[in-house]
Amino acid sequence: MTNTLVEQEKRGALGVIRMNRPPVNALGYELRSQIAEAHAAFEADPEIAVTVLTASGRVFSGGADITEFNTGRKHPYLTELIAMLEEGRKPVIAIVNGIAFGGGFELVLGCDYIFALPGAKFSFPEIKLGNIPGAGGTQKLPRLAGGPKALELILTGKAITADDAVTLGIAETVAADEAAALARLEKAVADGLPRRRVRDIVMRGSPDELDAIAEGYLRRSRGAPAEKTALEAVRKAYDTPIDEALAWERDTFQILNATPEARAMRHLFFAEREARKIADLPKDTPQRSVSSVGVVGAGTMGRSIAMCFADAGLPVILVEEAQDRLDAALAAIAKTYEASREKGRISAEEASARMALITGTIALDDLAAVDLAIEAVFESMEVKCSVFTALDKVCKPGAILATNTSTLDVNRIAAATARPEDVIGLHFFSPAHIMKLLEVVRAEKTAPDVIATAMEIGRRLGKHSVLVGVCDGFAGNRMFINFNREAQILIEEGALPWQVDAVMTRWGLAMGPLAVMDLAGLDIGYHIRQARGPQTPYPFTTADRLFEAGRLGQKTGKGWYLYEEGARRGTPDPEVEELIKAVSKEKGITRRAVSDDEILRRCMWQLVNTGYQIVEEGIAQRISDLDVIFVNGYGFPRTRGGPMCFARETGLEQVARDIIRYHAEIGPHWTPSALLLDEAGVSPGSR
Ligand code: NAD
Repeated sequence: MTNTLVEQEKRGALGVIRMNRPPVNALGYELRSQIAEAHAAFEADPEIAVTVLTASGRVFSGGADITEFNTGRKHPYLTELIAMLEEGRKPVIAIVNGIAFGGGFELVLGCDYIFALPGAKFSFPEIKLGNIPGAGGTQKLPRLAGGPKALELILTGKAITADDAVTLGIAETVAADEAAALARLEKAVADGLPRRRVRDIVMRGSPDELDAIAEGYLRRSRGAPAEKTALEAVRKAYDTPIDEALAWERDTFQILNATPEARAMRHLFFAEREARKIADLPKDTPQRSVSSVGVVGAGTMGRSIAMCFADAGLPVILVEEAQDRLDAALAAIAKTYEASREKGRISAEEASARMALITGTIALDDLAAVDLAIEAVFESMEVKCSVFTALDKVCKPGAILATNTSTLDVNRIAAATARPEDVIGLHFFSPAHIMKLLEVVRAEKTAPDVIATAMEIGRRLGKHSVLVGVCDGFAGNRMFINFNREAQILIEEGALPWQVDAVMTRWGLAMGPLAVMDLAGLDIGYHIRQARGPQTPYPFTTADRLFEAGRLGQKTGKGWYLYEEGARRGTPDPEVEELIKAVSKEKGITRRAVSDDEILRRCMWQLVNTGYQIVEEGIAQRISDLDVIFVNGYGFPRTRGGPMCFARETGLEQVARDIIRYHAEIGPHWTPSALLLDEAGVSPGSR
């Protein structure tokens, strides 16, 4: 076999193996075999005293080739390759030139000594794929960095720098570049460099602190298996012979890999990458340069949108109608940054640097020079059109004019300007500086370079940009409203709000749909419904009655639930039960016991059926984009992979049959999506 993925070079007594499998030196079968071969050659070469493992460029190794997780692997496995390095006669030194993630980090921990270059970064991101390191990471990192720090790194997936690695005892030193590292190594070899296998280091300290470190992560992971297993693994570093612990770790990795949670998280990993691709937009579509931003409207959204850009280092001009509202907005932003500083999330310098990037004005004319203007005024077509007509006059040619509307027709908003090709929807989610989703709404006339730039803006803000088309509610809200409506219908049929919420939180949502309405305020939905006119055939009658009875949710101490003074968790209220029963009676519905299973299916399949319709209509590009939307914009748990992934896990055929039955038994809002039936291989007439 020709060695094409590694370069071998002899430098005196040093045998250098340089990985070269772009883009990230993923440790697939061929790279593993070629490293093994090169190592064996240096082991056998009498002129070589020490083997050096490194790579060129900005990456050491991004870790496993995760396509192998689904397709199966071939020998030598990574664990076997690492054992080979450890069992050889000669020391192996890693010169870590760039990122060493996951399996790449484990390969490094299989070496005797680690030299870091300034660009080195180390992390175990496995937890983000529902797993733990499986090639020795959980046993060796604790031996170098101590159990508590190792557990923290395994549970967070956070990356550490070259300097951190030295401080934590992981790396010996930071060398300026490869030549400097090799020179230092040559000297060490001349002085007689002894072998020092990380696996042989005796663990110091006790595992007592581990529980306290894991506690918060275990709570937030809500019983997902990877977090619990990470704790168990690091504990083994203290009390289990290493070979036994390594065998356990290897088997456990395989078991976790096959769990629905790991499958779901892998699905999301690929879905989030896929979402960046736009079918009809070539990769080399030019982009417009965006280095200054204006935000019009400094209410709930405008404030947090301004913070998003300041957090990413871009200057923002925030425009309000009146000075007092502008002052209130700037004060609220300052308070939010101050709170982040107090919690230790950002430094005092960062807080003031970010605040300094935001300037306020009440003159729209001040946006004359910005590259991007985002409108976040009231959700009214009239108000938005007048703002766009004004922006068209004020903004320089080539500026991108974006709307943050949640529901309105972006084509109509674009038509209020003489440059509809520059107009696009940038739909942020609340709070915008926290939520990781940006729905990019493409209107009929939006220019390709504006779309490409908008997608990139999301990335610069650390968000997942998902491209959607114009329709009421775009992708996310259109699906979500149908989910909420089904919850209302189930309540009128016989379920109670606390039953519905309990079903959804057991499934994995942080809050059920009724508790969310109480948090947001029942007035919001009520006013939207009023503005839109009668919703037939399924009005939100119960929600409207609650609003009319002054039950607006947490802010009035009662909504779907009753809230004790200052409490964020509500308790069931007999008055609400009476009100619900009265609505059922008024509608001539005989209440019945609704099973938890029916609640879950009907709420989830509404999301799924609507999702397929949205793709069928070309509003979203692909089914997996909808999972990216729900996980990053609506707080759906990553361990479920999103609603569409859940439907696949359940079996699309089963989902399609349920929907056909609901359509016959419940009503036209269950008309099955043709795309769904097609993908499920079910004909519309079958039950
Ligand atoms: P908001 O009522 O809190 O804020 C709107 C602000 O715009 C007010 O401060 C108002 O003074 C200002 N304003 C109105 N006309 C203006 C003008 N001509 N020039 C400058 N300022 C003007 O509303 P919000 O919740 O921030 O929503 C804003 C937009 O964002 C709406 O289109 C809404 O649908 C959308 N949105 C809201 C959310 C959310 O959860 N609140 C989420 C996504 C999108």
